Amino acid sequence: MATRLDGRQLAAEIEARLSRTIAERLERVGRAPGLAVLRVGDDPASGVYVANKEKACARVGIASHGAHLAAATPAAEVLATIRRLNADPAVDGILLQLPLPAGLDEGPLLEAIDPEKDADGLHTLNLGRLLKGEPGPRSCTPAGVMALLARHGIALAGCRAVVVGRSILVGKPMALMLQAADATVSVAHSRTRELAALTRQADLLVVAAGRPEMVGAEHVRPGAVVVDVGIHRRPEGGLCGDVRAAEVEPLASALSPVPGGVGPMTVTMLLVNTVVAWCRRHGLDHDL
Ligand code: NDP
Repeated sequence: MATRLDGRQLAAEIEARLSRTIAERLERVGRAPGLAVLRVGDDPASGVYVANKEKACARVGIASHGAHLAAATPAAEVLATIRRLNADPAVDGILLQLPLPAGLDEGPLLEAIDPEKDADGLHTLNLGRLLKGEPGPRSCTPAGVMALLARHGIALAGCRAVVVGRSILVGKPMALMLQAADATVSVAHSRTRELAALTRQADLLVVAAGRPEMVGAEHVRPGAVVVDVGIHRRPEGGLCGDVRAAEVEPLASALSPVPGGVGPMTVTMLLVNTVVAWCRRHGLDHDL
């Protein structure tokens, strides 16, 4: 039976470390780290995600400077809000909650975020830093996967990794991070032929296809480590991932559950990026 890659437990451990880091440095800095989650419109799922992020901030001692704009807000006004947050000395991290309402192009808005405050690691400069192996805020979901793998002692050097999905949010940065850790990486996408033949070669299979329960036993080599990034609400209630967990669990050596795997790690890495930016702005070291 597969080891459970428990994101909830690791997230709690990292949160405890973040709380300590903040408490130890608070007096010297004179203010708590600040994260601004900018939400535009009323997408219900986004509402839940934003509330979770703000609750996580409160748990570790990060101040929330969130802004919620109406769906009909013109792009110029969203841009002005981002510029105000860029200039606000109490804000160390900014996150633009996606998806945006129809008619708003996320590209220029993401680019307007000060790269040093880019809590989501999605600014072109930070993606470029990742590509070049330079330090900078990393995309939260793949960074969370890397932390989960490290915590479970999963050796990446020389391993054959297959990432299913090539989005800017998950698949592409995931592949770069695994490559930087010396894995041999293949990236599959919707045009990949004979997907199962490719994924069956993987020692490590990361699935971020956004297709409910797409990956099953036929895709997994016995003993492989499987990370399920997908998250979907089942019509009948409850959540599932991109992986058919019941089929894969007896086969894999490790599997991340949905919920409780990658999801909690994504939120935690957002907090990490914010606290690292806060330390950096004040010339302080950290062990995060
Ligand atoms: P996107 O829809 O942006 O990307 C999906 C990728 O999967 C695309 O590259 C697509 O290929 C590929 N794909 C789609 N269908 C197939 C298929 N049949 N075979 C192979 N590849 C396929 O999704 P995201 O990357 O944003 O997210 C992926 C999943 O992860 C979603 O379920 C999302 O909800 C979840 N997620 C979870 C997070 C968490 O914290 N747990 C955070 C972020 C995302 P192509 O490029 O050719 O279209």
